[in-house]
Amino acid sequence: MEDPGKRFVDERLTGICVYCGTRPDTRDHCPSKVLLDEPYPANLPVVEACLACNQSFSLDEQYLACFWERVMCGSTDPSKLRRENIQRILSRTPKLAAEIQFTVAVDENGGKTWHPDMDRVRNVILKLARGHLHFEFSIQERDDPDVFEIAPFSVLTAESREFFERPEPEPMAVWPELGSRAFLRALPLGGQIPDGWLDVQEGRYRYLVGQGRGNYAHIVIGEYLACRVAWG
Ligand SMILES: [Zn+2]
Repeated sequence: MEDPGKRFVDERLTGICVYCGTRPDTRDHCPSKVLLDEPYPANLPVVEACLACNQSFSLDEQYLACFWERVMCGSTDPSKLRRENIQRILSRTPKLAAEIQFTVAVDENGGKTWHPDMDRVRNVILKLARGHLHFEFSIQERDDPDVFEIAPFSVLTAESREFFERPEPEPMAVWPELGSRAFLRALPLGGQIPDGWLDVQEGRYRYLVGQGRGNYAHIVIGEYLACRVAWG
């Protein structure tokens, strides 16, 4: 189905890299395909980006996807991994496989703890939050966020989970900008409510963006890892 947003989105809002504000040279899938499984969904969200941002994120996105697959499968041996695209990346990138290998520490009782490079993880999650906010609301958030939280669902309390799964409370009605995708989704033809979750790929990636006390993005990767980024 054609994305109505492509036809109607406000022209003033194009022509900049959504991550750094310079002139864009390319388009960036948000989320990146490495976080999804084949066959990829049609009409993946796409934002404009400069080549430098696009390339720096793409390495960190591979890192996060491979790290996460390692946690889920307990191995970096490509033959033991479930996701085919991650098997391919780790087979052809020994350096990355070695980096991922070092993210686990085993104590004397055989218990595992995970130590990913949090700068890289943060870089990806922040990029995704900014991309989703721009895609849905045509807004740019280039400042550092006030909230950056990331945790598996398994460690969240019932209240935290409840909070995470819902749109954040708004102090007053915030209207999506005329022409933004959130605005178009609110039209009867758009189909989805402005503040609802967007299921990019079932069980693999979903996100919720909104304008509560400030702009925010909630992201779920692999129906396991919960991420919350908020400004204001
Ligand atoms: Zn850029």
